[in-house]
Amino acid sequence: MILVLLGAPGVGKGTQAEFISREFGIPQISTGDILRKEVKEGSELGKQAKKYMDSGALVPDDVIVGMMEKRIKADDCRNGFILDGFPRTTDQAEALDKMLEKNSLTLDKVILIDVPKNEIVERLTGRRVCSKCGAVYHIKNNPPKTEGVCDKCGGELIQRDDDTKEVVENRLKVYEESTMPLIYYYKKANKLAKINGLGNIEKIFENIKAVLQ
Ligand code: AMP
Repeated sequence: MILVLLGAPGVGKGTQAEFISREFGIPQISTGDILRKEVKEGSELGKQAKKYMDSGALVPDDVIVGMMEKRIKADDCRNGFILDGFPRTTDQAEALDKMLEKNSLTLDKVILIDVPKNEIVERLTGRRVCSKCGAVYHIKNNPPKTEGVCDKCGGELIQRDDDTKEVVENRLKVYEESTMPLIYYYKKANKLAKINGLGNIEKIFENIKAVLQ
């Protein structure tokens, strides 16, 4: 099964991708996670990507497409994969179509997770992540037992550089301008399923599963 998770930053794509990955035994491919790892390691790709990521802009299409072409050919993608954060522009969506066609693969569904904008800003600016293990918290909705400390590994909780209010606003603007056209792109291709991203995360997952069955 090949899936795309579509939606603004902060709608819960990563959380739902993880659930789907566990349920169906296919890998979650998050372009944001791959890029953040490259930045942490200080690789050439990471250095190139960091300047865009820090301001909430998109990393150029050719860089992302090259990276994804390699990733989906990996062994663990044999039975399918979930794309989380890719494609994000029409050019990337067209490149994905070509990539799949070249490898005789078909995109099964695009799940659009829908959350109102005011809720997204609150979710992202309150998000904290563990600098050691990557666990995700929220200062109001899902606080750690001790402020600033990860419940799971004791690591320090930090705010992602791009979760500050200013950068979040830019990321949402970029989403509206560059990524929202993909809703129409996939609607036209008859692949789109829209899911309400508000409320209990397990319930949201049930709704996603219903669409996939
Ligand atoms: P995310 O964690 O998905 O919100 O991604 C964090 C940042 O990585 C984004 O704000 C972009 O700078 C970059 N990024 C992730 N995926 C893509 C993509 N498909 N195309 C361009 N830039 C991306």
